[in-house]
Amino acid sequence: MRQTLLPDLVVDAHGASSGVGITVEHGGLAAVGPATEGERLAGRALGPGFVNGHSHAFQRGLRGAVERIEPSQPRDDFWTWRERMYSLAGVLSPNSIREVSRRCYGEMLSAGYTSVTEFHYVHHRPEGTPYEDPNALAKSVALAAEDTGIRLLLIPVAYTRDGLPRFRDQSVQAFLQRVDDLREWSEGHPLVEIGLGAHSVRAVPRGWLEEIGRYAHREDLPLHIHADEQPREIEECQAEYGLRPIELLAQTGFLGTGTTIIHATHATERELDLSSEHDASVCACPTTEGNLGDGFLPAREILERNLRLSVGSDSQVRIDPFEELREIETNARRLSGQRNVLITGNETSPTPYLLRAGWGRAGLQAGDPADLIELDLAHPALAGVEASNLPSALVFGAGSGVVAGTWVDGRKVYERGDTSG
Ligand SMILES: [Zn+2]
Repeated sequence: MRQTLLPDLVVDAHGASSGVGITVEHGGLAAVGPATEGERLAGRALGPGFVNGHSHAFQRGLRGAVERIEPSQPRDDFWTWRERMYSLAGVLSPNSIREVSRRCYGEMLSAGYTSVTEFHYVHHRPEGTPYEDPNALAKSVALAAEDTGIRLLLIPVAYTRDGLPRFRDQSVQAFLQRVDDLREWSEGHPLVEIGLGAHSVRAVPRGWLEEIGRYAHREDLPLHIHADEQPREIEECQAEYGLRPIELLAQTGFLGTGTTIIHATHATERELDLSSEHDASVCACPTTEGNLGDGFLPAREILERNLRLSVGSDSQVRIDPFEELREIETNARRLSGQRNVLITGNETSPTPYLLRAGWGRAGLQAGDPADLIELDLAHPALAGVEASNLPSALVFGAGSGVVAGTWVDGRKVYERGDTSG
């Protein structure tokens, strides 16, 4: 079916235009340009959907439950939070992970995310033996994405030491076999793509990093890892290898064009240089990093090196791409005592940089997937905003409540007002 949508405005990273039609066909954008006929979307702006670069869907189950101190542990930090998270991870079943993931992905669509990268490391039965289908839990997560209509990049993640028994694989070969099996299974699931990852340098030793990196680069697959989130992880890595986490990743061949480093909160200049030399990218998760007391993203240093940046909702403490983007610039302002800090090239505002990080593109173009959001121009947060200021109003003055509809692969999968999910 071919369909032309005629919103009041089409928004991109630099501004918003009227009189533009968006023609959708076979899940893609067939045309973007001047149009007078089509389906009117009055009071709406259309823009690209947000890309969620890092998610643990099941952690949505912790919403509101971990915002107080346990009397037995008066000093609360990342590591005490992790105990609470492990309790939740310990009781997941194929059914319950599908249910919590469905709720999480439904919320993402309502917030304007049209795709999600799921960093999946709960693999086996609670005591550590594989399910009859060793990918049972990964498939439950993929089916939850299909239930909601969100696009999914599923990252099965290697884990072999520390953590819960159900996270761990016995050998890197067994892990990569599961990746092969998932890739084959995903061929019948058009909105599901498979990459792979290693949880962290803490959970995976050097030999595994080498094998996993080799496999991912050979097969040209997205490759993800948490790194430099917490000082303790860095100290342990230095004690074991005499290297910082990203230095180890460079030395083991893990870094490459397809590699995404999640967090990089405490990365040094040298680690960021290495990331840049290997053309790796960084995914920031500011609402989670703030909630867990991790620290601030070295955003200025990332921008100066031209490292590709994306954002993720990670622990799901908030699911709101507008807030993730705003946090990056706001933190940079707090740290520098200046305004409008993250400026690239000839720009005068950080907005284009931030929206490109959120969308993974600068605007809607023919040939792109038809992953779109409808923005409510009458929403109290946007009412009275001039078209030329709309992109900055989204980043600095709005939240997920302005999303009135979400389209994935040319199909409307969320409409505001319908919360029955
Ligand atoms: Zn994470």
